[in-house]
Amino acid sequence: MSDHATDSGSAQDDAPTDGDATTADVLVVGGGVAGLTAATFTARAGLDTLVVDAAESILARNAHLENVPGFPGGVDSRLFLDLLREQADENGVRRQTGRVSDVTRDGETFAVTVVGDASAPDAEADVDRRIDAEVVVAASWADASYLDGLGVETRRAGSKQYVVVDDLGRTNVDGVYAAGRLTETYHQAVVVAGHGAEVGLTVVHDSETPYYNDWVTPEGYFTDRGREVPPGCEEIDAEERERRAAASRERMRAAFADPHPEPQRTHPSLVDDELGRLDE
Ligand SMILES: Cc1cc2nc3c(=O)[nH]c(=O)nc-3n(C[C@H](O)[C@H](O)[C@H](O)COP(=O)(O)OP(=O)(O)OC[C@H]3O[C@@H](n4cnc5c(N)ncnc54)[C@H](O)[C@@H]3O)c2cc1C
Repeated sequence: MSDHATDSGSAQDDAPTDGDATTADVLVVGGGVAGLTAATFTARAGLDTLVVDAAESILARNAHLENVPGFPGGVDSRLFLDLLREQADENGVRRQTGRVSDVTRDGETFAVTVVGDASAPDAEADVDRRIDAEVVVAASWADASYLDGLGVETRRAGSKQYVVVDDLGRTNVDGVYAAGRLTETYHQAVVVAGHGAEVGLTVVHDSETPYYNDWVTPEGYFTDRGREVPPGCEEIDAEERERRAAASRERMRAAFADPHPEPQRTHPSLVDDELGRLDE
């Protein structure tokens, strides 16, 4: 595994998206709620993490998100998704646009076939490309078809296909994990986010990364008691705490200052009907 993130696990300033990446320690399929949260945790632990996302989270159809902890007045779901992407980027996650169409094993790694890339010139947009990854996290509600060739166990229920996982998100295939609604979790944002975090931490624990606790603590919390700062934890002094708190206030003020510019989404079967709902 490479040492991509800062060793303190804190945010990075470099550009998040990477249309050229052909390798990753952890490739997350799906940049929705579960995938972005899983990726944030693996990246913060130092694993080189790439999210490939085909289109848009189903959460973009929500009209006002009122049951996510920490938002007493609710939050625009498109804004919430923006904030998740921004947070992943801040923590060193790289993101690409594309649809994963196949995953095969190639020796010790997985060969992931991706179709389409928003950052490519139009002429190349539909050319298949390959990404090699040590670990694959499927967070691609509602598509698990690309796992068929690997023999990943799934369960059909009507038109839906769920990936079968253990309590921590491991599938029956070593190195392949699944998170979010794709695993038949409850269908709420906080549940799939929590599951994404849990699966991300499972990936970290299953890797060679030293034991990891993703905590930011006040200066001296460990060291003044004669303890080392555990891997993944960070102690910050009062000045740094105030700097981060001020930056956080500023960013959230800006995020909530204006209505979100994106239009309300709805069910695809209602799009382009006589009400023109997508464009409202
Ligand atoms: C109308 C509506 C309203 C809702 N309201 C609420 C609410 O008020 N509160 C609440 O808690 N929950 C709500 N939900 C549920 C919530 O949106 C979902 O539970 C949550 O988004 C599921 O997260 P996920 O990460 O599993 O999937 P998603 O967030 O949908 O993310 C999956 C991602 O995978 C991508 N993907 C799929 N296939 C591929 C592929 N082959 N390759 C690459 N990427 C792929 C998709 O483009 C998508 O971005 C609502 C849902 C709907 C439809």
